[in-house]
Amino acid sequence: MKLSGSSADEQFRREVADWLHANLCGEFEVIRGRGGPGDEHMFVEERKAWERKLYEGGWTCIGWPRAYGGRAATIGQQVIFNEEYARAGGPGRMGHIGETLTGPTVIAFGSDEQKARYLPGILRGEEFWCQGYSEPGAGSDLANVRTRAVFDEESDRWQITGQKVWTSLAHESQFCFVIARTDPHSSGHRGLGFFLVAMDQPGVTVRPIEQLTGTSEFNEVFFDGASCGTGDIVGEPGEGWKVAMALLGFERGVSTLGQQMLFSNELDEIIRVARANGSASDPVIRQRIADAHVGLRIMRANSMRMLSGGADDGSLQREAMIYKLYWATWHRNLGKLAMDVLGAESEILEGAPYTLSRLQSMYLFSRADTIYGGTNQIQRNIIAERALGMPREPRGEGS
Ligand SMILES: Cc1cc2nc3c(=O)[nH]c(=O)nc-3n(C[C@H](O)[C@H](O)[C@H](O)COP(=O)(O)OP(=O)(O)OC[C@H]3O[C@@H](n4cnc5c(N)ncnc54)[C@H](O)[C@@H]3O)c2cc1C
Repeated sequence: MKLSGSSADEQFRREVADWLHANLCGEFEVIRGRGGPGDEHMFVEERKAWERKLYEGGWTCIGWPRAYGGRAATIGQQVIFNEEYARAGGPGRMGHIGETLTGPTVIAFGSDEQKARYLPGILRGEEFWCQGYSEPGAGSDLANVRTRAVFDEESDRWQITGQKVWTSLAHESQFCFVIARTDPHSSGHRGLGFFLVAMDQPGVTVRPIEQLTGTSEFNEVFFDGASCGTGDIVGEPGEGWKVAMALLGFERGVSTLGQQMLFSNELDEIIRVARANGSASDPVIRQRIADAHVGLRIMRANSMRMLSGGADDGSLQREAMIYKLYWATWHRNLGKLAMDVLGAESEILEGAPYTLSRLQSMYLFSRADTIYGGTNQIQRNIIAERALGMPREPRGEGS
């Protein structure tokens, strides 16, 4: 896909840039460039207020159909929005899980009641979501989830019991989409359901996990008979895997381009430091910086290719299958490059225990990139089996 550069696109770009210029200031000045990976814990209330501001301007959920309050923005326009957003120093989005994962999934697979109940809160920037997939025994092998959903005839409600882990932003979320086993005798990807569960209820406990960066962006979440209504399962009981996988497909969407602008800002910062401290005269560092630049251009080209043929149902094209492995590896290497450019300074903290500079924090958080959203090893399996058609690796029964 080529961004057309048509006058309509250019006008749209100006509209986005002008709105951001006029609004990302004053009380919101403080959140400029904040809240990205490794910085999610910062300015949470201000960033929630920013979500509402975006909504007032019509800039939340722009890719959703108009019927659900979106702008039905084309892929090209969404690319432009993300580029301008990152260029303006727009803060990490508090609403990104709802906007990019829950919303498209409910639109594709949800009932009319679910659309009416859940989409407006996401659109208005008032209700935030988290993702209840991983469990202590089910990460890469997601089909191994043991959390149970039992239908209670008396109360006419589902009751959910089990433990999730690594649940990003659960402590800031009103809702969680949860994969749970509706058929207790099933195994693997059969017999699962996809539930929309309110977090603020007695059967839900959220316990933060402290990370390497000293912050707690993710959590353990315990469900102990947590309740949700008959209308809060997306699809039929037993169809949860299909819905859950489609949602992961939506994860490879347009927001990847905004992410690349953030990467570009990080690379610029590394170059600035390299010039300032003289490491830019080291030929090996210079070569690694050039490689990082080339990698970023390749990433962008592949995104454009991937987005130009995307499907609405979350199914993954072959081009999209290499994307996670590519960006995660590139960004982890960028973290190492940042540390080498900083030299000895990279190991010095401004204050105990964890006053990290932005590059130090970026480096530490980049170690997680090759894990979340599917580890590098799993991405290689996906490429081998689904993109290249190589023999499947042996799996347990039911998988
Ligand atoms: C920052 C961060 C945020 C996260 N946020 C969320 C969230 O919001 N919601 C959520 O549900 N989860 C979240 N996760 C969890 C994430 O999805 C899992 O960590 C990931 O899927 C890996 O699972 P695991 O940690 O159980 O590791 P395991 O699956 O136990 O893997 C351990 C190692 O074994 C390797 N391995 C496993 N199976 C294979 C195989 N078949 N072939 C080759 N190698 C294999 C892996 O690659 C890895 O190196 C988050 C994780 C991180 C780091």
